[in-house]
Parts: sequence; C-alpha cells; structure tokens
Amino acid sequence: MTLTNESRAREQICAFGKSLFDRGLTFGSAGNLSVRVDDGWLMTPTNISLGRLDPATLSKVDSAGNPVSGDKPTKEAFLHLSMYAQRPSAGAIVHLHSTHAVAVSVLDGLDPDQPIPPITAYYVMRIGRLALLPYYPPGDVSLAGAVREVAGRHHAVLLANHGPLVAGRDLETAVYATEELEETAKLYLLLRGEKLRLLSTEQVDELHRRYPS
Ligand SMILES: [Zn+2]
Repeated sequence: MTLTNESRAREQICAFGKSLFDRGLTFGSAGNLSVRVDDGWLMTPTNISLGRLDPATLSKVDSAGNPVSGDKPTKEAFLHLSMYAQRPSAGAIVHLHSTHAVAVSVLDGLDPDQPIPPITAYYVMRIGRLALLPYYPPGDVSLAGAVREVAGRHHAVLLANHGPLVAGRDLETAVYATEELEETAKLYLLLRGEKLRLLSTEQVDELHRRYPS
C-alpha cells in the first residue's frame, strides 16, 4: 500500500467511524475498526469515540502487532490480530457493541453453529455462517484463542454478551456486513415467537453458488 493509499485508508476509517457513530451503531468509546496496510495495520485508538477520530492520530501497529505510531491502540487490538492471523485475505475488521447484535448474543440456548438463522438472502450473502463464541471478560487472552479457532472458517463472529467481530476484503465490505448483521439481529428479535419460513438449505446453497464470498 503506497503512502497515498495509507492516507486514503486513514480518511476512510474516520469517515466510517463517524457514520457508524452518527447512526447509533456505536456509542461512547465502544467499537473499533482496523485496516491492513503494507507494513502492519491501522487501528482506532483506545478510549476514543468513533465519532471524532483524527486521521493523523490513528494507531499504527507493525506486522507483529507492536504499536509504532499514533495514539495507543484499542484494548481489543488482539481480537483483530487473531482474526487477521487466520484470514490472510481480510483487508479490514469491524468490531461493535451494536445493540441488536449484542441482544441476540445474550439469548440463552442459541445454536453456536447458527445463532441467527437464514432469514434473508442478503444476510446469507454478506455474513454466511455466523459463529457464536462463549463469553470471556474483555481482554482475556483465551478470547484470542477462541477467535483464532473459528476465524479460518467464519469471517463473522458473535462474542456472547459482548458483540460482533466481522472481517471483509476492505473496510467498506466489513462495515456493510456488520450493518447487515445488526439489522438481521433486529429482525430476528422482532420475529421471536412467530412461526418463521426460513430460507431452505437448498436456497442457502444456491446463494453461496451464485455469490461466492
Ligand atoms: Zn468489544
């Protein structure tokens, strides 16, 4: 990634951060974004609102995950690095504490292999199979191991009682997928208790054939 591309990535992180914040998808200093660059990653700093990020002070970490410039990186940097370690094709990662996805993550008795069923085509196309990970306290290193275990097979993970972690080939893809997940979680909660006509296995397989991720 050239310097021009890196500065474009910095602008993009700030623009998407503000957009997510302005629409209530994140709040306080919750949530973090990262983008892969040639010599490491750009990350949002710790204890800052995604609504007022500064391109010049974003954290940069090297390919070993050590901070090299900018403000101190998010405390959840290890979540991102664990996902990237298993997904060489991932160019960006979004992690939010968005309300509806968190609400689903708190429900008891979820199927860990399919916490949200295939309700709509776009959910299947952008998220595919969501993995549910058990609860760990924020910062617990076991959480890194748990993410690493599933990230090769799943680009979207729901951390129980915490929130979603979603990788994409670029930041736009990762943000759109995270938004699709949040809206699908909202639909799923609206429909709880109703008799649902879910997409069939054949319909899901057909979507994966037509739109391979
Ligand atoms: Zn978090």
